[in-house]
Amino acid sequence: VTATLIDGNALAAGLKLKLADEVAASSKHGRPPSLAAVLIGEEPAAAAYARSQARHAAGVGMEYRLCRLPAECDMTAAAEAIARLNSDAAVDGIMLHLPLPAQLDTFSLQQAVAPRKDVEGIGAANLGLLLMGRDALVPCTAAAAFACLQATGVHLAGREAVVVGRSVIVGKPLAILLLASHATVTQCHTRTRDLAAHTRRAEILCVAAGVPELIGADHVSPGTIVIDVGMHRVSGTGPDGTQQLRTAGDVQLEAVLPVAGAITPVPGGVGPVTVTMLLANTVKAWRQSLRLG
Ligand code: NAD
Repeated sequence: VTATLIDGNALAAGLKLKLADEVAASSKHGRPPSLAAVLIGEEPAAAAYARSQARHAAGVGMEYRLCRLPAECDMTAAAEAIARLNSDAAVDGIMLHLPLPAQLDTFSLQQAVAPRKDVEGIGAANLGLLLMGRDALVPCTAAAAFACLQATGVHLAGREAVVVGRSVIVGKPLAILLLASHATVTQCHTRTRDLAAHTRRAEILCVAAGVPELIGADHVSPGTIVIDVGMHRVSGTGPDGTQQLRTAGDVQLEAVLPVAGAITPVPGGVGPVTVTMLLANTVKAWRQSLRLG
């Protein structure tokens, strides 16, 4: 028996169709939704990510504005750019491309985004609302991991869920989402003793450790649903025996496939759903700004 693969590309495509329908139906009430991305400096990976965001946004009928600032810009200029977007009534969502140049304070700039436009869901207001079980803009990667889990149709109430990782953007909000669905949640991190003893108890195992292929077959019990948030480029040997780069997650996919009940592959699992969640948060912010509920 091998695990069912949770198809993130198909899930993302379905979600985008729904968003496109929602945008088309509601745009008659006013302007289409608009996402503004702030890109500071010339980081090639961030610029490539911005191009892909622009394509995805256009695909659902959303406007996308890229606000570029020079690599040498100071905190005042960066904060002013965010303040301008905060007060621009034609902008629904603001996201900040990382990494920022070293002279800039990432935390301060992220927290400068107005809560109603914080479509990355990483401001104190949205995280606080999420913690309190209130309606919030949820961090995109945690929301994507949770959507992959929900796509399996699993009933979460009472389940043993283990989250490996406690970052603010993934591990912590994902644990809160699981808790809100009445799972019994264990959170593991770098100081956890005997990680495998915890992960083997999991019926739902979510891994966001940022360590390539940390989780092997010995960490997983038969039938467990495994959500792999990790995303890495690692070197390996290709079919012709040469060294090649390949994409890997935090889970050893081939080793875990015969054990798990279902698993998100890397690539093609959580990743494609994450950008869709950014669009979904922007549509949500837009509906709220147009008072469409
Ligand atoms: P992070 O480095 O901020 O946090 C990693 C967490 O894992 C920490 O809390 C740490 O305590 C824990 N951890 C690290 N090593 C561990 C170990 N050996 N045992 C137990 N816990 C351990 O990373 P992050 O930003 O949360 O991202 C996690 C992973 O998700 C990364 O691989 C990142 O590339 C990936 N990611 C993917 C997407 C996506 O869209 N798929 C988006 C963001 C991040």
